[in-house]
Amino acid sequence: MNPDLSHFGALAAAVGATPLVELTAGLGLAPPLRLFAKLESVNPGASIKDRPVLRMLQAGIAAGALAGGRRVLDSSSGNAGISYAMLGAALGVPVSIVVPGNASAERLARIHAHGAELILTDPLEGYDHALRTAQALAAQYPERYWYCNQYANAENWRAHYDGTGAEILRQLQALDLHADCFVAGVGTGGTLTGVARRLREAHPGLAVYAAIPDAFPGIEGLKPLGAAGDIVPDILDASLIDERIGISAEHAVAMCRRLAALGLFVGPSSGAYVHTALAVARSGRHRTIVTILSDSGERYLSVGLWPAG
Ligand code: PMP
Repeated sequence: MNPDLSHFGALAAAVGATPLVELTAGLGLAPPLRLFAKLESVNPGASIKDRPVLRMLQAGIAAGALAGGRRVLDSSSGNAGISYAMLGAALGVPVSIVVPGNASAERLARIHAHGAELILTDPLEGYDHALRTAQALAAQYPERYWYCNQYANAENWRAHYDGTGAEILRQLQALDLHADCFVAGVGTGGTLTGVARRLREAHPGLAVYAAIPDAFPGIEGLKPLGAAGDIVPDILDASLIDERIGISAEHAVAMCRRLAALGLFVGPSSGAYVHTALAVARSGRHRTIVTILSDSGERYLSVGLWPAG
């Protein structure tokens, strides 16, 4: 198989270089305290997951992992699945994605639209069960699948170190600022690990807060990481985290609606991060706080995030 790299290159070039939007005034804060967020919904797959998936696919292709027509296989809460399906379609590479059956209809429809195979797991069993299912498939059919394994693939966090984190540094430098606080949650841990490493290397005093959702009803894309037996992603460098802050789905949703009223249409994990960042801002301990708006509100129409009237 010979991936069509010219077409892929055009799509790949559209990933990253996202805006850093300022939320300070919109959320009622005042300088010198400033709050910024990286708007990742402008990626072609409408989420932050385009960045690591692009990098993991590029590395896999370079290493010959897809030789012989092997399929790309991974588990996902849905957004990475969309990125794999989209980029796989552009490359002419077959893709199989294991997703919990309760992923939003928008996610499932888009993965299907790009021609990827969807393998749905029991909604009640969550992300860890999807992960174990992908592991089992990869072990059973090694000649059929290349298991990309975003939870353990170092290209995931590196995409955020070289991309998301480096962009934040440059964008703040242009304003004569540097981040002294970063807030994010953990799905695979790629965002938190890559961005926090990059920002802390530049400014060792950086404080890192992890937004950790309640187990029920949960927040799409984020792992609760609380209960015994929860799989902690291999690439998560938990030593970077100064403090874990619990966040309820209700607060996340309320913040989504508040952000929509400010012109930012984002999903619940973004609401969770901003709610947490605002709480941290109010503590008065930091000056320049950065967080991430991981995906688009469009992805949650079917789950009732946006009542019509
Ligand atoms: N928010 C959303 C909506 C996501 O889909 C994900 C990834 N599952 C995250 C946040 C967390 O990102 P990461 O995998 O880099 O920890």
